[in-house]
Amino acid sequence: MEKDWVQELTMILGEAKVQTSVADVHSYSFDGSFGEYVPEAVVHVSSTEDVCQVMKVANAYKVPVTPRGQGTCLSGGPLPVHGGIVLDTSQWPSSVEIFPDDLIARVSPGTLTSTIHEAAAQHGLMYPPDPSSAHVSTIGGNLAENSGGPRGLKYGVTKDYVLGLEVVTPEGEVMRTGGKTIKNVTGIDLTKLIVGSEGILGVITEATLKLVPAPPALQTMMAAFDSMRAAGEAISKTLVSEILPSKMEFIDKACARAVENYQPSGLPIDAEAILIIELDGHPAAIQEEAEKVERVMMELGAKMVIMPQSAAEAAEIWKARKLVSPAIAKIKPTKVSEDATVPRSKIPEMMEKLAAIRENYGIELVVFGHAGDGNLHPNILCDKRDKEEMQRVELAVAEIFQAAIDLGGTLSGEHGIGTMKSPFLEDEIGLTGVDMMKRIKQAWDPNGIMNPGKVFAEEGQRLVLTHD
Ligand SMILES: Cc1cc2nc3c(=O)[nH]c(=O)nc-3n(C[C@H](O)[C@H](O)[C@H](O)COP(=O)(O)OP(=O)(O)OC[C@H]3O[C@@H](n4cnc5c(N)ncnc54)[C@H](O)[C@@H]3O)c2cc1C
Repeated sequence: MEKDWVQELTMILGEAKVQTSVADVHSYSFDGSFGEYVPEAVVHVSSTEDVCQVMKVANAYKVPVTPRGQGTCLSGGPLPVHGGIVLDTSQWPSSVEIFPDDLIARVSPGTLTSTIHEAAAQHGLMYPPDPSSAHVSTIGGNLAENSGGPRGLKYGVTKDYVLGLEVVTPEGEVMRTGGKTIKNVTGIDLTKLIVGSEGILGVITEATLKLVPAPPALQTMMAAFDSMRAAGEAISKTLVSEILPSKMEFIDKACARAVENYQPSGLPIDAEAILIIELDGHPAAIQEEAEKVERVMMELGAKMVIMPQSAAEAAEIWKARKLVSPAIAKIKPTKVSEDATVPRSKIPEMMEKLAAIRENYGIELVVFGHAGDGNLHPNILCDKRDKEEMQRVELAVAEIFQAAIDLGGTLSGEHGIGTMKSPFLEDEIGLTGVDMMKRIKQAWDPNGIMNPGKVFAEEGQRLVLTHD
């Protein structure tokens, strides 16, 4: 016999939208991190009205609700850690309406980010946020995590392109924030509060996004270095050379080798560090800038600088960059992916600290990431079945966080806190900061049903990696 709330939801939404069998709900127990929690029900929503109904029933029965897009989160955000309902938006029909005269797009929550990129491009426009997962993640997930990507260096992250939202509150009411205008200072900025709130305050059901004119020309460059420190210094030096590249990505030797083993892509495998840079703007300006960047790279000891001569050649290099994540995942069964971020002048120091952590804990730690904005991705390849190894990994992760904080950085540049980093939140923002966030959560969600177990550490929670 199904629980009363399941019966009620089935009656309202129909059997096809409410699944409870073990076989059906199992695939909603994972995300891109490695926790596993099975929900009691998965509800596939395809309209704001559906979401309101789910939230009203869940709130009445005090059942946890975990919103979910495509489940690519790397911090445990869409995992139903307290059971209850996974509210799946992935079957919500994609919708992107472009308003070229206002340079805005109105989108539905389950739309893939790459679909928005393609729709904007048809009007000569660009939606800048470009998480490497753009082809497999939803705008709802991007908004909830405030996702970034390579272009964050020049253009900023998701929050910088959100003008307005439609949100369903934990009590099932529809709320609109912001609007269609570039300027809007009416009252407290609830749009900014929702973006990056990791699904703990409400369900995003529509977003109005800001677009910009697409840059007329692009130039990609790839430089290889014999030392991490030199690559770090080349990043810092470029950024103070009156040039702002649109992308400045970093790949270490282990990542380059993993890509070449996985799918040969022409990355140099004998260099300690590779930088992949993109300049965008007027063709004459970027040519001058490319020459300047090349000089900086050579002055800092680059062993080679490649400038692809066609869009197809450039696309090959960026494809290789995108392959890093799947390629390193093949090295060992478990991948612990971090996104500690430091002020840009501290990149070389952070690189050195990561090397020391790798050495001290005897772990397989590889590094790649959006280095131009200080957002490194130290990834630890390990095996979650090996308890002894995972204990070393856990200590290493804590030290990575501490290193970033000590250098004036942050626990998370883009992946969010979720379950994976919640025990460390207080280390960065202090007790008063955590308390204020909890008070906001309590005011929005008095019954605590909206994505519980995320952002704030639960009683006694410390070990985040060694649960079964
Ligand atoms: C290979 C790979 C590369 C990646 N590259 C990047 C990168 O470059 N930059 C980056 O920032 N991230 C990156 N990520 C992480 C991930 O893709 C992003 O966090 C993405 O935004 C998650 O989208 P999703 O649709 O998969 O959301 P999910 O993983 O399903 O959910 C993420 C969070 O959003 C909440 N949520 C989802 N939809 C809604 C909604 N409609 N309303 C309210 N809350 C909601 C969930 O509860 C959860 O807390 C990468 C992940 C992978 C696997």
